[in-house]
Amino acid sequence: MFGLVDAKRFDRCQPPEQRVHSLAPGCGTVVVLGSGGRALARDLSRQVAPEVTPALAEQHAWHRSCHIAALLQGEGFPCRAVALDLGSRLPLGRLGEAAGFGTVSPVSGMLLHPEFGPWLRLRAALLIDGYPFGEIQDASIADGFHPCCNCARPCLAACPAQAHDGRGQSDLGRCASHRHAGGCETGCCSRAACPLGSEHRDDAGEFAHSHAFHLPKLQRWFGLGVWRIVPTFLRQGR
Ligand code: SF4
Ligand code: SF4
Repeated sequence: MFGLVDAKRFDRCQPPEQRVHSLAPGCGTVVVLGSGGRALARDLSRQVAPEVTPALAEQHAWHRSCHIAALLQGEGFPCRAVALDLGSRLPLGRLGEAAGFGTVSPVSGMLLHPEFGPWLRLRAALLIDGYPFGEIQDASIADGFHPCCNCARPCLAACPAQAHDGRGQSDLGRCASHRHAGGCETGCCSRAACPLGSEHRDDAGEFAHSHAFHLPKLQRWFGLGVWRIVPTFLRQGR
């Protein structure tokens, strides 16, 4: 999946520290790359390794993103790839929304695609100087796509850590603590409970979508386990 975002238009609605220009002052065009459903995992299991872990999918998607950035750079378009991951300066959900990938749920905060529901992943953003592809239209579909309005909200009850407040905010620290203690080992129950795009859930034995962020990353970010003795600025690289 890919979508184009006008960096200046996007930045107008973001807090200063989350603006594209705080990462790349000359950027006008953002190409957002993602994957929906199980297609990436199935490609990888055919071509790379039979069992696709989230780490493998992430690594592969990142290499592909860097490859595209290098091609653009070679064509004379100054460009850099940034991973859309835990600790990313860019707001993942809002960027996906601006790229036309879906709507950020006002209930769970998950990014919901009309076909894939919550079974999509943002992978990387290519920050390109100026507007080499011309003017960028607003691609957001959020004004017309409101899947949570008539939903019984099973995503809330399904979360054993009660990480979602029901108003679109999620406490990732709660989620991390729960998972550090051994909960939600194979996948996110909230995501699995959402009726949207349920046909794109991982099949048994597939782990491509098991979690948006891997447990070791969360443990490091939130200072869990051995990381509790490491200062925050070292753990989070800030
Ligand atoms: S992984 Fe588990 S604790 Fe975290 S949000 Fe999903 S259901 Fe809640
Ligand atoms: S379960 Fe319902 S309320 Fe929760 S994210 Fe999915 S559509 Fe929205």
